[in-house]
Amino acid sequence: MLAKPTDTRPWERTQPLPARDRVRAQAISAIPRWYNPWGHLAFPSLVGLGFITAALSLLDAPTSAEWLTVPIVLVLVNFHEWNVHRNMLHRRMWPLEVLFWRHTPEHHVIFVRDDMAMRATREFRLVLIPFYGILAIFLATLPITAGLWFLASRNVALLWVASTMGYVVAYEWLHLAYHLPESSPIGRSRAIRRLRRHHAMHHTPELMQRWNFNVTVPLADWVLGTIYRGRSV
Ligand SMILES: [Zn+2]
Ligand SMILES: [Zn+2]
Repeated sequence: MLAKPTDTRPWERTQPLPARDRVRAQAISAIPRWYNPWGHLAFPSLVGLGFITAALSLLDAPTSAEWLTVPIVLVLVNFHEWNVHRNMLHRRMWPLEVLFWRHTPEHHVIFVRDDMAMRATREFRLVLIPFYGILAIFLATLPITAGLWFLASRNVALLWVASTMGYVVAYEWLHLAYHLPESSPIGRSRAIRRLRRHHAMHHTPELMQRWNFNVTVPLADWVLGTIYRGRSV
């Protein structure tokens, strides 16, 4: 991964609604006609739940030490989420610059702290990671899976797959939930309201490059001191 110097200042201020609407209209017009938002949500969900079911059904009498794989992996992935969000989604990083362009100048311009809600289901496209993302993550982490299989145990490798896939699905569902209308049944729930506040603060363009990088549970933000505690901008 090669970091490219990136001046993000043009995006670090809240743009007036007409300018944000222009970016929104442009992003929506780039969505192919065949795009199906429910398919986009269902694919990673079914793939993820499928991997979890398969991995758990292949377990062979795991010991309690092996079960510890689950909390350890969830914590490590939480820090990884913080790192990827801060350093790849908010900075241009070759060869995955597309992540930056879809996130900082698009997702962050369209959705701001006081205007977080999607206006139509087609806007799932502006929130969810690409549909093949979960498969790409499974494939990219296969060397780790294989390493755990041979160096630790088959059970540890299977629990690693179940934990990482579970994390990806949770990321997708939670992020989508934060961008639902606040008045929707999911948007109204207490847990989502709390977590949305954390993510919505990150959607303040003036703060996005420095604060609130966790999208799921703000554990790494808490440990690393990047929870924004100042007054809103
Ligand atoms: Zn968001
Ligand atoms: Zn961000």
